[in-house]
Amino acid sequence: MAYHSIKRDIHHIYKKCTVGNNIEKNNLKNGTGGKRLCKTCADIKAGIRNR
Ligand SMILES: [Zn+2]
Repeated sequence: MAYHSIKRDIHHIYKKCTVGNNIEKNNLKNGTGGKRLCKTCADIKAGIRNR
């Protein structure tokens, strides 16, 4: 499930994303928010980064 921070202009698709993990609960929203995909999540998706 996609999620994003209202404070950032990117969204995440993986729970294990280290950037996404740093989002404070107050700023966390479900969905993409119409924002671009996070680079770390993109790397995980591409198989470059496993965890
Ligand atoms: Zn991410």
